[in-house]
Amino acid sequence: MERRIETKCIQDGYQPKKGEPRQLPIIQSTTFKYDTSDEMGRLFDLEDDGYFYTRLQNPTNDAVAAKICSMEGGVAAMLTSSGQAANFYAIFNICEAGDHFIASSSIYGGTYNLFGVTMKKMGIECTFIDQNLPAEELEKYFKPNTKAVFGETITNPTVSVFDIEKFATLAHKHGVPLIVDNTFATPVNCQPFCWGADIVTHSTTKYMDGHAIGVGGCIVDSGNFDWMAHKEKYPGLTTPDESYHGIVYAERFGKGAYITKATAQLMRDFGAIQSPQNAFYLNIGLETLPLRMRQHCNNALAVAKYLKENDKVAWVSYPDLEEDEYHPLAKKYLPNGSCGVLAFGLKGGRETSIAFMDKLKLASIVTHVADSKTCLLHPASHTHRQMTDEQLKEAGVAPDLIRLSVGIEHVDDIIADLAQALKQI
Ligand SMILES: *Cc1c(COP(=O)(O)O)cnc(C)c1O
Repeated sequence: MERRIETKCIQDGYQPKKGEPRQLPIIQSTTFKYDTSDEMGRLFDLEDDGYFYTRLQNPTNDAVAAKICSMEGGVAAMLTSSGQAANFYAIFNICEAGDHFIASSSIYGGTYNLFGVTMKKMGIECTFIDQNLPAEELEKYFKPNTKAVFGETITNPTVSVFDIEKFATLAHKHGVPLIVDNTFATPVNCQPFCWGADIVTHSTTKYMDGHAIGVGGCIVDSGNFDWMAHKEKYPGLTTPDESYHGIVYAERFGKGAYITKATAQLMRDFGAIQSPQNAFYLNIGLETLPLRMRQHCNNALAVAKYLKENDKVAWVSYPDLEEDEYHPLAKKYLPNGSCGVLAFGLKGGRETSIAFMDKLKLASIVTHVADSKTCLLHPASHTHRQMTDEQLKEAGVAPDLIRLSVGIEHVDDIIADLAQALKQI
């Protein structure tokens, strides 16, 4: 029987043999020894499996990637140095200059910039779409050179829910994979592969690490997308790679082709590796992820209900609230809860929001979300500071929007802190 997620988080990825350490060891070594020149040569040709240099593969990193792979129900996975690197690799592994892809406009600001500005300079064009449009209207954004579709299960910072099944059907109809950034939901609350997504990415910096210790990322492949069936679209996977003596990834590695190519080419050439030390911390975070997600969700729902009732609060967005516009999608994709992040605004707008935040004692003002400590950010004063109220509206960020990341402290203490600050404004 398939093990449950709580068990996978503890047991999967690393199984010690007789006399070996019970906890995952940190293999803090750049390199690995071989007895003959030929043994090493075969590794360079991808003829044999084995470690030779940590930029390509490291046993600690691979064990943690294998655990996340199992949690998502995938066939292969790799760790990266950050969520940004994961999303860049996920797209760049199948897109090159002259290609096009489609992304939801409701995504993390860093990803929006990566796709809209930096990748454009590489000759890769991204069309941002309104993810709430019906499938018929989304059809028109596909072009002959479209190679992928991208969205976030739960968007940062507006906490809207992405209709994975709608986009998977649409992407497959056009012969391209759906890539889903599952950072906020985590595989504990949603497994996008169950709904037809082909590739999942993570900023492990958030709930997976969970303690604000290490920046990291991960890419997981479901193995379900048939690259050979769309041979002409994905020459990087379906035609010989001259930098590896003519290997055809999709032929040689089958379901493992996508991650093997990302490791052998992109990690080799760009080198955005996670340090084994950070992978070790990440693994400890993963062990308690299901426990923490439950507490984050319970706390966030109680806080959302409290804020909703307070007459100084103008609005609250949280998909687990029954009256929230994304509740029907949350019920389908996130039946056990969404995440600990919610957004709200205060009557009185921008100035009131700032005054309120300065009165908080337990909740801290930080540029972070999704760790054990309650924290918050006012995008209009922080991440989106340079924008006028008009520009903020265009970006979908209300000037009064406060992004609150509810931690796993006792919920009464979190609410008491919010209450004392609200009383003072
Ligand atoms: C934070 C975040 C990223 C970027 O990850 P880093 O680890 O900060 O590079 C990408 N996607 C989402 C949804 C995020 O919240």
